[in-house]
Amino acid sequence: MLQQTTVKAVTPYYRRFMAAFPTVEALAQADIEDVLKLWAGLGYYARARNLHACARAVVARGSFPDCEEELLQLPGIGPYTAAAIAAIAFDRKASPVDGNAERVIVRLFAVEQELPDAKPAIRELAADLYPARRPGDFAQAMMDLGATVCTPKAPACGACPFAGSCAALARGDAESFPRKKKKPERRLRRGVAFVAIRADGHVLVRRRAPNGLLGGMTEVPTTEWSSDFVPADAAADAPRFSAPPGRREAAVSASLKVSWRRVPGVINHVFTHFPLELVVLRARLPKSAVAPKGMYWIDRQSIASAALPSVMRKVVSHALGEQS
Ligand code: SF4
Repeated sequence: MLQQTTVKAVTPYYRRFMAAFPTVEALAQADIEDVLKLWAGLGYYARARNLHACARAVVARGSFPDCEEELLQLPGIGPYTAAAIAAIAFDRKASPVDGNAERVIVRLFAVEQELPDAKPAIRELAADLYPARRPGDFAQAMMDLGATVCTPKAPACGACPFAGSCAALARGDAESFPRKKKKPERRLRRGVAFVAIRADGHVLVRRRAPNGLLGGMTEVPTTEWSSDFVPADAAADAPRFSAPPGRREAAVSASLKVSWRRVPGVINHVFTHFPLELVVLRARLPKSAVAPKGMYWIDRQSIASAALPSVMRKVVSHALGEQS
């Protein structure tokens, strides 16, 4: 939950999550939709899905593993998390390296290789450095040292216990470490979101595919999001509605004519790998309008508690706010 955010922002989410799922068993038995609802707004939704899958795996095996090799078998647990749990929770000899500890190690040994390519070499250096005695305390001390003393800018080397043996300090250019590869430019992606509003206020939504970006979350229908998107092509992706079943036989055509109108302004959202700009089109439909295949109507109150990611909340409130 704490990825890319603060304890203050996360605390209410954490409390609600723990109240709903107080044990591993409770989380394992929960519906993924309910887990995603309580995660909505935190981003990084793959974590919620992994946490849920992980709870199921732990319940299936009967206990929580206490060594790195077995922890690594669990969904969503990579080398850093496995090492951190083994060292901090079970006092096993392991050497977790978070971003802060990584900076300390890189400077201590003046690692010239660029990040992220240097990560395997840094893990090896950490394995030699971390002691067998109290590995969890050592790991946390390294993380805190990086966060408070060996800071990215202006490290306080005078207060550092490694000052006597630090290669970067000896060279006099500690702040120039770590070396980093230039990040590829994050290109803006564009798309169109369709907010269909029924006469009784219900909004048309669908569920995203279970994997990938915002996997399993609820959204209003949209076009693809791409950097070479042409707004004029959006019409082809607009949801198509049919007349209600009772009137179908009498209707000349089964399809309902819908007029999509652009809501002034755009929605901007920044994902980890790209910024997104969405144009919002809105349409009003009769209460009898039938939802297209794979989509469904949701009432206003349920929107508040649905597993709607932040970007979709922005889209819906933009469209609804414009309407009132
Ligand atoms: S001596 Fe300075 S650069 Fe080296 S680890 Fe300590 S704070 Fe970081």
